[in-house]
Amino acid sequence: MTSLFGSTQNAVIPSTQSSFWRSQNLCISLVLLLSLFCPPAPARAQQPTGQSIYALTQQFLAVAPKRFNGSPGHLAAENFIKEHFKPEAAKGNFDTDQFTANTPAGPQTMRNYIVRFPGKKDGVIVLASHYETNYPLKDIAFVGANDGACTTALLIALGQYFRTHPPEGYSIWLLFDDGEEAVRSWSESDSLYGTRHIAARWFSDGTARRIKALLVADMIGDRDLNILLETQSTPWLRAILRQAAANTHHSANVFKTEGSEEDDHLPFLQRGIPALDVIDVDYGPHTAATPDGYHHTAQDTIDKISPQSLQVSSDLFQESIRLINQR
Ligand SMILES: [Zn+2]
Repeated sequence: MTSLFGSTQNAVIPSTQSSFWRSQNLCISLVLLLSLFCPPAPARAQQPTGQSIYALTQQFLAVAPKRFNGSPGHLAAENFIKEHFKPEAAKGNFDTDQFTANTPAGPQTMRNYIVRFPGKKDGVIVLASHYETNYPLKDIAFVGANDGACTTALLIALGQYFRTHPPEGYSIWLLFDDGEEAVRSWSESDSLYGTRHIAARWFSDGTARRIKALLVADMIGDRDLNILLETQSTPWLRAILRQAAANTHHSANVFKTEGSEEDDHLPFLQRGIPALDVIDVDYGPHTAATPDGYHHTAQDTIDKISPQSLQVSSDLFQESIRLINQR
């Protein structure tokens, strides 16, 4: 309806003031007439901008700075996610996957959240991010602006976009997973609690067969964004990301380095689901005091990430989704 009004208006070239007003009246009458038969167009959100994802990260950190299991911040993080998906919950498209994890610090209650945006093609693309912070870092001022917070914000922002622009291709599911980090020290049994749990559930209930691809977002707000060529990720998905970067003019931000990461993609790969880890592990300067840069330090704060990098990450996810649908 909007475009019809626009084209009618553009076609009118008034020769005099009175014919101009006559044509305006004609347009208004046409709009009024059409409005009797057409429901109003839904409010359309624009594509998420880096600035809006950055602002959402700030909001998330303000209400849930420390998000280790059992803390008030962890609960606040869960509520922040739930608050943003009330319309999906009302439609039955929001699931809570609660379970008890046996950790070296004893049993812990964990929760994954799944938000579904139905598409038109049979199949699902899952976008995943962990939202919690490390239990072993609970006694330092670790807020994980890059590690967990900005990718939670990225998924929320993409979800807000899919709400007003439902997927034309495969359905899109957002997975906000808990317990990615080790509770004591990283091992196969002490890490990836949330994704191991949901991957097993999706395998046993048949959901895994419907999943065309799963993309993990982790630490991709870094000001100096350099997404790793992660070698365990499914090869055709790595090719998709390379192409997505070329199409969006972000090739300089991807694949300058290559390596293998243990991350939330692994439990899905182990179940035969194509999965890609979109991660930048090279975060901040490496010094004698901080050999791993800002990673898992109190320096992982909002000033170390940028709206520009979040824009790049958002572009890469949206373009990858488009390319997966074309495949
Ligand atoms: Zn981490």
